[in-house]
Amino acid sequence: MKLYAPSTIQAIKEKHNFQLSKSLGQNFITDKSVIERIVEGSGAGEDDLVIEIGPGIGVLTAEAAETAGKVVAIEIDKKLIPILAETLGEYDNVRVINSDILKTDINEIIREEREAGSFSGGVKIMGNLPYYITTPIIMGILEKGVEADSITIMMQKEVADRIKSSPGGKIYGAISVAVQYYCEVEQVASVPKEVFVPRPKVDSAVLKLSIRKERPVDLIDEKSFFACIKAGFGQRRKTLLNSLTGVNGLAKEEIKKILEEAGIEPARRAETLNIEEFAAIANGVAECSRR
Ligand code: SAM
Repeated sequence: MKLYAPSTIQAIKEKHNFQLSKSLGQNFITDKSVIERIVEGSGAGEDDLVIEIGPGIGVLTAEAAETAGKVVAIEIDKKLIPILAETLGEYDNVRVINSDILKTDINEIIREEREAGSFSGGVKIMGNLPYYITTPIIMGILEKGVEADSITIMMQKEVADRIKSSPGGKIYGAISVAVQYYCEVEQVASVPKEVFVPRPKVDSAVLKLSIRKERPVDLIDEKSFFACIKAGFGQRRKTLLNSLTGVNGLAKEEIKKILEEAGIEPARRAETLNIEEFAAIANGVAECSRR
């Protein structure tokens, strides 16, 4: 059975009296090559555990189950659980959990699967995400230090463009610096809106975020780093001197001194700073706030 065929999706909907939910971002992939690119892009192999976010009717799950040692799929919509039991019935290496990914302890799942001996390799997270929660899902995984090698996910093209962008442009922002701090970013596919049922308004892209084993910059404290990023991009039209004043309670004169000591012109704007420059400022801020 071609699970990804629009006719199969229609037949499943009729058989189970299932209505697609717009509010849960249910746009299902109907193109085999896109499914293969996500699973191949994730680098999952037979020793690995795949954690899939939002399996829908299980198109990616089935492909991952063919490739990985074990697949744990986390789906919020309880109406999809009996459907997944049917569509994935032939796989004995799949576990479906009915829960909200934003409230799920992924490290706990990884621990359980490791203890059960279901995989001996690494952990690859993947999914075709509901677009409105792309950023909280990615940042939640990265900030909580989930013990995964990578996150390979479909997202709105514009969000992918922002995440992978470099300093200097209008789309470079807090999410670009934050994700690039934790991960190496690589685009593995461009996906036109026509391959989804129902068709969304926007095109998509698949990014592979390979979680760094070592951070790219040395920080005195991460809180000051993220506070500088937030303040700098929160008022991105302002000069750094103005946008950073008030970070960690520091006065304009103190920020001026920190910028000068870091060799950064106070009239520059956050969108021109690379990650090393943000780190230099953040370390100055951290030191100055300790005094
Ligand atoms: N993976 C399927 C595919 O590619 O065809 C479905 C992708 S669809 C864009 C997103 C899926 O995520 C839906 O099945 C939806 O019910 C589920 N979902 C939405 N919010 C979720 C959440 N907070 N936690 C877990 N799953 C969620």
